[in-house]
Amino acid sequence: VNSSSKPDISRAKSAELYEKAKTYFPGGVNSPVRAFKSVYGTPLFISKGDGCTIWDADDNQFIDFCGSWGPLILGHNHPKVREKVVSVMQNGMSFGAPTALENELAELIIKNNSFVEKIRFTSSGTEAVMSAIRLARGFTGRNKIIKFEGCYHGHTDSLLVKAGSGLVTFGETSSAGIPPAFANETLVLPLNDLNALKEAFASFKEDIAAVIIEGIPANNGLLIQDKEYIHALREICTENKALLIFDEVITGFRLGFEGAAAYYDVVPDLVTYGKIIGGGLPVGMFGGKAEIMGMISPDGGVYQGGTLSGNPVAMAAGIAQLTELSKSGFYKDLNKKAEEFCESLQRFASARNYQFKVFNVGSIFWFAFSDNPAIKTAAEIDPASMEKYKVLHRELLNRGIYFGPSGYEVGFVSSAHTKIDLEKAKRAIFDSLDIVFR
Ligand code: PLP
Repeated sequence: VNSSSKPDISRAKSAELYEKAKTYFPGGVNSPVRAFKSVYGTPLFISKGDGCTIWDADDNQFIDFCGSWGPLILGHNHPKVREKVVSVMQNGMSFGAPTALENELAELIIKNNSFVEKIRFTSSGTEAVMSAIRLARGFTGRNKIIKFEGCYHGHTDSLLVKAGSGLVTFGETSSAGIPPAFANETLVLPLNDLNALKEAFASFKEDIAAVIIEGIPANNGLLIQDKEYIHALREICTENKALLIFDEVITGFRLGFEGAAAYYDVVPDLVTYGKIIGGGLPVGMFGGKAEIMGMISPDGGVYQGGTLSGNPVAMAAGIAQLTELSKSGFYKDLNKKAEEFCESLQRFASARNYQFKVFNVGSIFWFAFSDNPAIKTAAEIDPASMEKYKVLHRELLNRGIYFGPSGYEVGFVSSAHTKIDLEKAKRAIFDSLDIVFR
């Protein structure tokens, strides 16, 4: 059943590198999803990327839809980004002192984004979120935060928390090593559920510092929320003097310069970004209203800092990438290309009555092995359906198409994917789906 109609790709060199890596790193990797535990075979070690193409250590070539998990909206090794990085590097790589490059990237962001008046750069999305949470607590003088089942916000302790039993519950830690006391400050609610939200505020009104939500949840499938729900969430936060934090580490600068906040037409109090603003280098950022950001040290009492924060090389990559994105028509063209791609995949699957739905917003997409055309909560994803993703993933690799090694992860179309690349990918996906559903 589901046997491949193509020979498996050779992974001899990747497998050898993986054996060695296992002697150095837990699980042989520096971030768990890379270990290919949810798909067939050993991880591919990537040796090169250019445009939408990547090559592995065995010289297999793939059209890449992972894009380093989102940052590479221009594709790999974009000449403008590379040239800017190389030119800045000629002058040294880190000073731990202010540089003009930080101003330049901040100006590009603040001038083109009405949701942030003041910002601070960090080195990762996790740090951005961690700092935004601390700021929200400092600003409100309250301790509890609300997060949603199915949203990922990086690996900060208070957010590695999953729902306990019951509608409104204190979370249970989803990782060892987190004191229950931390999880007790985090309430975990189902997405898109207004009653649960109202109940949480009714129970903990004066204690809730902030509600954090992924702009459009995209770490556990693509869970597009109802606009009315997000608007109600905004109102409830305002009524209760809790801050609304939009975690736009994926959606920021992906859906447009103003991300999911503009998509829903709501004004969050704080926003976190990462990925795209660093052009493939380690950058994160949080920002919001000047009044709230004024609480950050040294202006205010909420401590936050970093040796490599605002690193000049990373700033250079961000400046070059955002400059490309700010060109007229960039998002319109990219999003249209992605939508057409997704529509034709859905047409194919529907014509064959496959239990397969393509979810898409902007240039983000996700495949669900389901008949439900409107999955909005984590509970609606059937874990058993991931077996189908495993087969799809293997078949796609064998046909030169690279997707993230987990069926819960979204894919990304970049501006480097040409019509020809997307046609090729479509044919490979059609053939692979025929095998998945054989
Ligand atoms: N927030 C969201 C929405 C993310 O998707 C991620 C990472 O994927 C993070 C935060 C954490 O960012 P980083 O991996 O850069 O620490």
